Amino acid sequence: MADRLVLVINSGSSSLKFQLVDPDSGASRFSGSVEQIGEPSSDVADHDAALRRAFDLLADDGIDLKHCGLVAVGHRVVHGGKRFHRPTRLDDEVIAELQKLSALAPLHNPPALQGIEVARKLLPDVPHIAVFDTAFFHHLPPAAATYAIERELAEKWDIRRYGFHGTSHEYVSQQAAQFLGVPLESVNQIVLHLGNGASASAIVGGRPVETSMGLTPLEGLVMGTRSGDIDPGVYSYLWRTAKMDVDEIESMLNKKSGVQGLAGERDFRRLRSMIESGDAAAKLAYDVFIHRLRKYIGAYLAVLGHTDVLSFTAGIGEHAATVRRDALAGLLELGIELDEKRNATGSGTRRISTDDSPIAILVVPTDEELAIARDCVSVL
Ligand code: ADP
Repeated sequence: MADRLVLVINSGSSSLKFQLVDPDSGASRFSGSVEQIGEPSSDVADHDAALRRAFDLLADDGIDLKHCGLVAVGHRVVHGGKRFHRPTRLDDEVIAELQKLSALAPLHNPPALQGIEVARKLLPDVPHIAVFDTAFFHHLPPAAATYAIERELAEKWDIRRYGFHGTSHEYVSQQAAQFLGVPLESVNQIVLHLGNGASASAIVGGRPVETSMGLTPLEGLVMGTRSGDIDPGVYSYLWRTAKMDVDEIESMLNKKSGVQGLAGERDFRRLRSMIESGDAAAKLAYDVFIHRLRKYIGAYLAVLGHTDVLSFTAGIGEHAATVRRDALAGLLELGIELDEKRNATGSGTRRISTDDSPIAILVVPTDEELAIARDCVSVL
């Protein structure tokens, strides 16, 4: 069969990441990003310019999108709301529905829609397909999906726990089962996706039963710039007493909080060197991050009752051995025994627990672009 390729586009407010993927072999033909979209110092004015720049980068590499076997363009869309939980072909009606969903994800869906609009214009002859970060968690059990707030209000405004990073949680859980050589249906798993955004999930037989993010990607773990769980009382207190308005509070919680808010630095590599040079704020930020992570691990072990495998993924999960060590230290009684040497070495999908550890601890590199590309061809 001739190569077929999918162009996967992840369009954020100030960056556009793209990758040309062969969904059959899993190979990436090209990956790139255009940063600083719309920033004063940048010559990339908007998403239209960004995508044109991306096409130039592909052309510089000898790739002509019109003659390379492109079968679809896959767009990562953060929020699918109640309606969208399958890869969905984008047409005007779907796009109009997605526009309405922007209220649920004001920081995330609008830039994706901009990317979709431009890409459809530049590549009108291939199907464009949206793949939703919420999709995998659509069937969370009601007890996990429901906020304990006034029911009529929640129903009227579609307030529930949606969960995000679903593409990654699903992919990693499949990879973990495959690596262990066991059927997905037979294992209980915890997946810890620790990147700039961070989330945890508990998965039974391939179906999610709990996840840490909620109505928006703000809930749950401490993240690079997001607070994660916080008493909603803080919100009203800041509004009433500090006279901050809703946009300021939302921006503070999403962009100026988390590890960045506590230490002035969100990158875990630099955070580590700050800790090593005695920076107390960096140490506290790290400790708060680890403490929250351990609380979630404990909670998910209890949610599952029996756990077979726990996997770390994304930038921090795949690369920060100290985070993995500190998150799991002293949990032998709960069935977790890390092998320090395995944890500190190796690459790719691997086991980092001892052979005797009742729960297998894995590192599993995520590949959201490949997962999106495969989702796309599944609906062609
Ligand atoms: P995103 O959520 O933006 O996709 P990634 O999954 O790429 O993020 O994770 C990015 C984060 O991973 C960085 O901010 C950094 O904190 C962390 N990271 C990446 N490489 C390393 C490394 N070698 N050691 C420690 N942390 C790392």
